[in-house]
Amino acid sequence: MATKHDKGRLIAPHFNEILSMRVEEVLVDTDLLGTFSGEIERVGTPLETAIKKARLGMERTGNPFGIASEGSVGPDPFMPIINANIETIVFIDDELGIEVQESIKSNEITAFTTTTLKNDLESFLQKADFPHHALIVKPHNGLGSFKGIRDLRELEKAITQARDQSADGEAIIESDLRAMCSPSRQRNISAAALKLAQRLSHTCPECELPGWGLKGYIRGVECSECGDFSIDAIKQELMGCVKCEYTVPGAVINLTLDPARCMSCNP
Ligand SMILES: [Zn+2]
Ligand SMILES: [Zn+2]
Repeated sequence: MATKHDKGRLIAPHFNEILSMRVEEVLVDTDLLGTFSGEIERVGTPLETAIKKARLGMERTGNPFGIASEGSVGPDPFMPIINANIETIVFIDDELGIEVQESIKSNEITAFTTTTLKNDLESFLQKADFPHHALIVKPHNGLGSFKGIRDLRELEKAITQARDQSADGEAIIESDLRAMCSPSRQRNISAAALKLAQRLSHTCPECELPGWGLKGYIRGVECSECGDFSIDAIKQELMGCVKCEYTVPGAVINLTLDPARCMSCNP
């Protein structure tokens, strides 16, 4: 597992318990592929970045198996007033020629930001769960940052220095979202790892490769009131293989369409 941020202990137990696999960390400077604090912009999707990370670890060790994860925190795509943490994790097996991924979205993420312009440090620290969650301090207008702060005296020192370095004399204080600094992110990474280990424990009924699971959705449902057919509405899960084309319809999500969502009954 390629990581720089102590993620192995969040992932290894699930792979060990469910798959009897031993996960070892490989120290790789994954920050080169993009950082949370924004110094290095991430190029590509989180899945592409996770795959690149895993492959860096595999190149380093010559091991045909690799794991890596990639996360993001930002406004929830469906409810932008709250934050969401999306964690993507991938397992690569070059012997079988498969890349298996899972991801989770969680609104349980402690991610806050403030500036010294607002006089709310005490309530901010409470909200940001300091010092349990670490903080970053940076100049409001300027370069440089103080990271991984978990101590009040250290925080005060960083604020003074950041204000000195800022063109307008103010500083930004925000949650440090790197995995080793954010217990709420750690829980989400662990949940994504559990989901991936579970997926890898299921094999394809056709080709017997691991990674059988949700592949997409079958769409098209009739309205329960007028009987009109909605082509876009999700009907049920589609289970599939990561390698071959074999699929099986999964759990039914909507047997009929709710008239409230029907274009004819509720245009
Ligand atoms: Zn298959
Ligand atoms: Zn209808």
